[in-house]
Amino acid sequence: MVSSTNRLFCLLCACFLVSSLSYAAESGDDERGNSGPFKRDSKPVKDDSDEELPPLKAPEKKAEPASKPEAKPEAKPAFCTQCLGTGFLPSAPKAYVHLPNEPLIAANAIPWKHCSKCGASRDAKELLETEANRLSKSTDQYKNWEQRLGMKFLPVDTHHATIYSQLPLPQAKAVGDALEQLTAHLQTVTKVTLLTGARPDSQEIFLLSDNGNFTKFIDVMTAGRPAEEIALAKKCTSITNAKVAVMFFNPTPNEDKAVFALAKMMILEAFGTARAPDWLVEGFSSYCENAVTKKNLCYSIQYEFNQVKFGQNWNADVAKLARDGQLRKWDEIFVLSMIGLKAREYITCYSMVGFLMKLDGAKFARMVVNIRDGMDSQKAMEKAYGRSVGELQGLWAAWCQTLK
Ligand SMILES: [Zn+2]
Repeated sequence: MVSSTNRLFCLLCACFLVSSLSYAAESGDDERGNSGPFKRDSKPVKDDSDEELPPLKAPEKKAEPASKPEAKPEAKPAFCTQCLGTGFLPSAPKAYVHLPNEPLIAANAIPWKHCSKCGASRDAKELLETEANRLSKSTDQYKNWEQRLGMKFLPVDTHHATIYSQLPLPQAKAVGDALEQLTAHLQTVTKVTLLTGARPDSQEIFLLSDNGNFTKFIDVMTAGRPAEEIALAKKCTSITNAKVAVMFFNPTPNEDKAVFALAKMMILEAFGTARAPDWLVEGFSSYCENAVTKKNLCYSIQYEFNQVKFGQNWNADVAKLARDGQLRKWDEIFVLSMIGLKAREYITCYSMVGFLMKLDGAKFARMVVNIRDGMDSQKAMEKAYGRSVGELQGLWAAWCQTLK
């Protein structure tokens, strides 16, 4: 609770939603913490399947022919390569959207299974106990929010986020369904739980009834922040950081806003305290929104207000830009900053993530780990996909032209 609210104070960037003149602030990097379910403190697991080649070493002049080179400790991945260090694997659970007054059944809330490799000795009962323990505290958690904000909410529990809603329950339920659709999609495509590490007691999404409550929320949550930051936040229709997303009812469907926000929360969660590149965070959020809603109505800004005009169909826009040779080059995208971006940049980020996920979602997750662990985007991508960026970019440019 406390850490979540603190992080909301760091409003480093914002999501502008196309359909109105408001946007969502986004926490940046250094306050993200590593407190989610995927703490990187698990014991290293030996795995030889994906190691870097040891550096070439000049042969030493000692002539001890045919003697075996002295065994040198090799760089082992510091995590299990099957689950990418999360300790869990997808279990394809039935969609879970718990509404108030329904019985809380811990078994329904279990979002994954233990990794069959590094978690082989773990008892499945632990997962049940974790959920039972979490659910036993969930009422306290939302009551704390109500008290702090002076507002009433209906809590809706899902596998990966809690929704606190001031909207009619069917609307909150529809948002819950969309979030479940997103996380199921990501686990299916990536075959790991790395990008769905959000949990309901850690990632919380507020659906507010109106702009007045949104303003009130910002006043409470940003107390003490610089005036320009607060003013920027109030121009948004939602603000988001790695732990909390807040949005209010407006013409942009809540499903789009919530899916976009949860995607952002989840990729930030996957990076922990590491800095996530902007192209990847933005492209991933847009990819996820489209994967669930088949639309793109949201985008993020940082630091400065930036109204961008988009077409109705980003896929058609990608195809046209590709045919016209107008998509941005990847080496420019890898280093872009979120300030003052134009539609062409947003759409390029979106199409890059879409292409990489389509090509191989498991390798996409591996690329995320590579970047998180310190590689630049190009090297991380080449290592994960086993192809040069030039080759990947050529395939992407051709693929973009096929989008509709
Ligand atoms: Zn594992």
